[in-house]
Amino acid sequence: MKKRIVSKFGGTSMGNAECMIRSAQVCLKQKSNLIVVSATSGTTNLLIELSLTAEKKSWPEAETILRKIETNHLKIAAELKSSEQTQQALHSLIHELESLTRGIHLLKDCSAKAFDYIQSFGERLSSLLFTDALTQEAKKSGQPHLIKWLDARTILKTDDQFSKARPLTDLIIQIAQSDLIPQIEQGTVFVTQGFIGETLDGKTTTLGRGGSDYSAAIFAEAIAAETLEIWTDVPGIATTDPRICSSAKSLKEISFKEASELATFGAKVLHPATLIPAIRKNIPVFVGSSFDSDQKGTWVLKNVSEWPLVRALALRKKQTLVTLSTPEMLHTHGFLFGIFKIFNDHKVSIDAITTSEISVSVTLDDSTLVNTKLIEDLSKSADVQIEDGLALVSLIGNNINHTPGLANKIFETISDINVRMICLGASKHNFCFLVKEDDGATVVQKLHHQFID
Ligand code: ADP
Ligand code: ASP
Ligand code: MG
Repeated sequence: MKKRIVSKFGGTSMGNAECMIRSAQVCLKQKSNLIVVSATSGTTNLLIELSLTAEKKSWPEAETILRKIETNHLKIAAELKSSEQTQQALHSLIHELESLTRGIHLLKDCSAKAFDYIQSFGERLSSLLFTDALTQEAKKSGQPHLIKWLDARTILKTDDQFSKARPLTDLIIQIAQSDLIPQIEQGTVFVTQGFIGETLDGKTTTLGRGGSDYSAAIFAEAIAAETLEIWTDVPGIATTDPRICSSAKSLKEISFKEASELATFGAKVLHPATLIPAIRKNIPVFVGSSFDSDQKGTWVLKNVSEWPLVRALALRKKQTLVTLSTPEMLHTHGFLFGIFKIFNDHKVSIDAITTSEISVSVTLDDSTLVNTKLIEDLSKSADVQIEDGLALVSLIGNNINHTPGLANKIFETISDINVRMICLGASKHNFCFLVKEDDGATVVQKLHHQFID
């Protein structure tokens, strides 16, 4: 059996014709078998803005956004000298997008289903353009591959939780085995879309923002890939977000467990769910820059050669702390069960938790606050206090919960900062605490200087 490689390219790697050509060259160099692409950078944001504008504002305002999306893609098509067939396919997608947004505008209603469908256009447009770029580069380099555009929705079946759909893994593997693997074995190279899937009754879904990484990992599992490559705009996973701390260094390797914590606690370089399929099938994940593919990049592996106490730092902004208090918690059982059931009923995920005798504090993404029904339901069981404008700072490493003196060193380093909540103990790999959002970057810089520089 030949080695199978899945390569994923993010929005910046699809940013314009030049980026697409560079990414296509990376695919050829790596001998990728299946390529998963994101929408061109900024397009998903524009599609979201388009849906909201069509629903709530005037048609000319919505049309301006629509034309911007159209112009951006047609410009890339012209620069790539795309085939007649691709140009027609782009025009027909834009035409469909226009009809849909006109419908949303007339109805003044954008349902969750429509919202996901509209967002799917980003990846559908970029993957058409990228198929052309790759076909041209393959011809130029004398590599006569059969390059095929693949509609991800024919393989990536999901449940119907729009905006955060979950893959139906067994079915996906089954379909990939019959529909993809035989063709890959014959040398076909597929170009497909990240981020999107489809329910069993044919409705388009999305996996959540940044979800193309996750799609790529699902495809890697489905075709039993030997390696999953994530090509982005930075040369690998760094000790912290290079945008926050200029001395952040790219890591040579990081374990699955550490990388999962890093992704969950805010490192945008990987979607938090990406490593679930990779861990399940022990698929090594490579993260590198499509802008400079000769740089070493980072390997995410089950076993690594070193297990440092602090490997990296993460910052997760826009956090809200919800504190629920009631004397009923005193010496009784079932209170936490009741509370968590409410979060579960509202499908809201909690990141960090602390409890005392009569209260429990949980952190949530601030977008949850628009869910007024959740707050209402919680208020029936306890007194609810909400603090927003917070950020979760995490130290990611190994043996963190068994190292004497670590907490002392952390808080000495940031002694002038007010710490709102601390979570330590549950994980060997993570120590996190909440600070004011405005202090977040300074805290990360100080800790990076103390533990990593
Ligand atoms: P893509 O569009 O390729 O998916 P993203 O913008 O989603 O790219 O992710 C890459 C970005 O992640 C980088 O530009 C960087 O600012 C950010 N990032 C956050 N934390 C880290 C980290 N620890 N290492 C590398 N990049 C990080
Ligand atoms: N295009 C989607 C987004 O911007 C998915 C991705 O880029 O991973 O969120
Ligand atoms: Mg991303």
